[in-house]
Amino acid sequence: MTTTRREFVAQLGAAALVGGSLARPTPALDPHAVPGSPAPWYRRTLRWGQTNITEIDPERYDIAWWRQYWTRTAIQGVIVNAGGIVAYYPSRYPLQYRAARLGDRDLFGDLARAAREQGLTVVARMDSNRVHEPVFREHPDWIAVDADGAPYRSGDLYVTCINGPYYRSFLPDVMREIIERARPDGFTDNSWSGLDRNSVCYCENCQRGFRDTTGRELPRRRDWEDVGFRRWIEWSYARRLQLWDENNAVTRAAGGADCIWVGMNGGGIAGQARSFRDYRAICARTPIVLLDHQTRSNAEGFQHNAFTGKLIHGMLGWDKLIPESMPMYQIGTPMFRLATKPPAEARAWMLAGFAGGIQPWWHHVSAYHEDRRMYRTAEPMMRWHRENERYLVDRTPVASVGLVWSQRSVDFYGRDAGEELTELPLRGWMHALVRARIPHVPIHVDQIGEIGAGISVLVLPNLGALADAQVAAIRRFVERGGALIATGQTSLFDEWGDARSDFALADLFGASRAESTTPARTASERLRSTAAAQTYLRLTPELRAGVDGPHVVSEPRATGTRHPVLAGFAQTDILAYGGSLEPLRVAAGASVLATFIPAFPAFPPETAWMREPRTEIPGLVVNEQGGRRVAFMPADLDRRYAIDNLPDHGDLLANLVRWAAGDSIPLRVEGPGLLDVELYRQSDRLVLHVVNLTGAGSWRAPMEEIIPVGPVDVRLRDPARKPSRMVRWRVGGRTERAVAHDGWLRFTLPVVREHELALIE
Ligand SMILES: [Zn+2]
Repeated sequence: MTTTRREFVAQLGAAALVGGSLARPTPALDPHAVPGSPAPWYRRTLRWGQTNITEIDPERYDIAWWRQYWTRTAIQGVIVNAGGIVAYYPSRYPLQYRAARLGDRDLFGDLARAAREQGLTVVARMDSNRVHEPVFREHPDWIAVDADGAPYRSGDLYVTCINGPYYRSFLPDVMREIIERARPDGFTDNSWSGLDRNSVCYCENCQRGFRDTTGRELPRRRDWEDVGFRRWIEWSYARRLQLWDENNAVTRAAGGADCIWVGMNGGGIAGQARSFRDYRAICARTPIVLLDHQTRSNAEGFQHNAFTGKLIHGMLGWDKLIPESMPMYQIGTPMFRLATKPPAEARAWMLAGFAGGIQPWWHHVSAYHEDRRMYRTAEPMMRWHRENERYLVDRTPVASVGLVWSQRSVDFYGRDAGEELTELPLRGWMHALVRARIPHVPIHVDQIGEIGAGISVLVLPNLGALADAQVAAIRRFVERGGALIATGQTSLFDEWGDARSDFALADLFGASRAESTTPARTASERLRSTAAAQTYLRLTPELRAGVDGPHVVSEPRATGTRHPVLAGFAQTDILAYGGSLEPLRVAAGASVLATFIPAFPAFPPETAWMREPRTEIPGLVVNEQGGRRVAFMPADLDRRYAIDNLPDHGDLLANLVRWAAGDSIPLRVEGPGLLDVELYRQSDRLVLHVVNLTGAGSWRAPMEEIIPVGPVDVRLRDPARKPSRMVRWRVGGRTERAVAHDGWLRFTLPVVREHELALIE
């Protein structure tokens, strides 16, 4: 049965604003726990600490001082270096290199005992992907080799092959030894997934394994058109999942059912793809994600931390934990391991993480520091977290907009330009929606079929590679009344990245390809071609004849009205663009709201006039036939926004979502500044994070000072439609009653300093 959009929105009712079935009922922290028995460590350890030990620390590790630091910072678990590249205990295996100053000391064991005495969870940290030269001399078959048979090196160390005996038998023996000696609660591994996608290992184990699985020889060159190379990509992914399972089998057999192995994972999808880490498949086989996403880049901003938390929870479940390594030292470019990170920078990253359901984990490198300011940063944040911990876990997002992502599209559409083709468009949407304070959640493309009625809009940010089944799931979403926004080359390629003859969603878009040539996939080619030139989009209808300014006779008459997605642009007929577009055929009934103005010179200024002021090439098409709301924006303004940060682009993206969402957006926040607002439901309670990202240095890391903003006016739709609610501010400390008008609760925050957490009860 087909549901019209109007009925669909009505069905949303009040209570269904939550992110559909992705947002499951709120369980207790451990729904599987036997009454009276504590939840396993991976369900109860909310705050973490890690002192990444250097080789000279065994002689100078002041455990007594660190114990009181553990207490002061209210942590519940520690991550302690055990073995791998460097062992911090006297291993019975001579090939496991001991820390230079270890001698016969069991530093790992000492730290594990100290942590146990304080009731902390102990996770043993491995770093498995490199070894010292004696290992290579004795076991060359443990080392990855290139096409010429030369070992892969990393500085003085040798890179181990994940298909060789080092991973299959030596590391399991080491982990069993660690369990036997110290019985850690679980294991992690810093760089567990071996060589990345840019390097093929041609060792005998890899050759044999690939041949046995695929009947082929290993690919000799990187060629995405080559079937063998594609099979190598898939085979490499599968081996990492197998390794995950094998490591868990080892640690659980030796250490008990809860002694799980959890390799670290990153915050960027392109990075996960480069490392052959299938994020969704990993989330399906682990009860916790240990997140190695330590800092913002200027391009991503602090908001990327909340976004990453939501992205992982979307796969892992909102009742699970995602502790994240948060350095107290200056990380990034430049890296200063022993110097304090500016506190405002560290705090903003932590707070954005809290807002995305991430748990804090302070991280120091070395057990001794002369810059002692770094010991002051985490403490107040960790204590605040402890006081508010029950509001920061086990909640589900209240959002009506889903940003769809696909790791497979990053691989097979993005190929060697995954970040540019796939991550930038997604990031542009994130920035635009954070800036517009529109609640949104990332949704994995294979979960579209699972989302409930709470999600009323799906955004497909240049989702180039889509399998037929994924296309069908998107279609079903639209058929039952959902709105769709797609950009760039969405659906123009299949799951292998092979070009289709037309967009698979052309009928929904109301636009199809006009040329029979094979489409170019690389944005970089397009960017290069326009790097020295300027392109624009022409908005329709043109209104300038009615706007104050110089007039000429050739000006079109100002007739008609603009579509709501062009709201706010009444005084301009053009928008800066910066990309290029190809002709499309637009279906009868679909509306073209913007057309392409091809490049013309920017230098010298005398030449900066439009050579071809008007084309029929569409930049933005909306298709409202049959009561649907579908927008297709061939112009890659999402990618452009991520790169250029032009407010017009952000405004247009937000306008598209507001139009598509109708009245389903549950939150309106007004006031100055850059705020990341995240809204959750926790049983009957609503939890609202307002993270203030307005600061001196928000334009360029590091943040030096966060500038308080306010007043901030909040209106939110109460799913329970109560006549009034109590609002408690967990930072400002006030309590007030908010009265509902037409189902909307309204209250005002006089000031937001670093952040605010409002409980609406
Ligand atoms: Zn190999």
